[in-house]
Amino acid sequence: MVIYKRLGEFMKDIAKKTNTMYLLDKYDMQATKKFGQNFLIDLNTVKKIVETTPVDKETCVIEIGPGIGALTEQIAIKAKKVRCYEIDTRLKDVLAESLEDYDNVEIIFQDFLTVDLYNVVEELKKEYKQVCIVANLPYYITSDILEHILTSGAKLLSIHAMVQKEVALKLTDKTYKSPLTLMIESVGHSSISMNVSRNVFDPSPRVDSAILSITIDKEYNSLLTQVLKAAFTQKRKTIYNNLKDLFNEQTNDVLNACGLDPKLRAEQLSIEDYINLTKHL
Ligand code: SAM
Repeated sequence: MVIYKRLGEFMKDIAKKTNTMYLLDKYDMQATKKFGQNFLIDLNTVKKIVETTPVDKETCVIEIGPGIGALTEQIAIKAKKVRCYEIDTRLKDVLAESLEDYDNVEIIFQDFLTVDLYNVVEELKKEYKQVCIVANLPYYITSDILEHILTSGAKLLSIHAMVQKEVALKLTDKTYKSPLTLMIESVGHSSISMNVSRNVFDPSPRVDSAILSITIDKEYNSLLTQVLKAAFTQKRKTIYNNLKDLFNEQTNDVLNACGLDPKLRAEQLSIEDYINLTKHL
């Protein structure tokens, strides 16, 4: 094993490959697939990612999965506050050292999927002008995390998430419809703000990545989740068949009132159609 020796104190710029290796080596840490760990090891890329976000000295950033702190550090330099949620408790000592100079960083060791995001954001907004999410997401739960954020109804300014490029392309393709793309469309707009090569991660994933940016300008309709989940239960089935468990004997009347042909498929409906359907729940 290569030992990255350092004289004196650990140098900042965590995202530099030598610094990442030094920290992982010192704490005998190995990235684990179980938590989707692919650490960013290119300082320029990390700085550019933060530049694509609206983070400034009035912003509180929620970061999901700080890892060893590479992205956290660059966010901390630009933001007023960084609140991180990390599932892997092995990272406690690493983060205590790597981010010790940043007193605006708070790390909570908790599975992000169990965070009551709505109330967390309400609390943070009492102190900070705006709250946004910035994260290099663990790819094994990308959709679950995005859905958790959107359906929470949390009053966020925006979301900036590193995801697999292929996923980013799908989620920004206006002709592709899934419950997640419709949830995104219901609250705002999505775009790809930056492409990221697989070569700037350690370990390097098998695919390239991209930063998916979602700006939020509308409140989430909490009834939408039920309607979307029901409508997409079986993609090949008609909306009548998929929605009949939800609307029971009123299914035909509801579809009629919304001006929808019962033989349509879920992906043929617009977000407005789905919002109309929620009014009959
Ligand atoms: N932010 C670091 C970086 O950019 O180098 C690490 C990103 S790595 C792709 C994903 C991070 O999310 C890991 O630190 C992993 O432990 C963490 N993670 C995975 N599942 C999580 C969950 N459910 N809740 C919170 N953190 C999670």
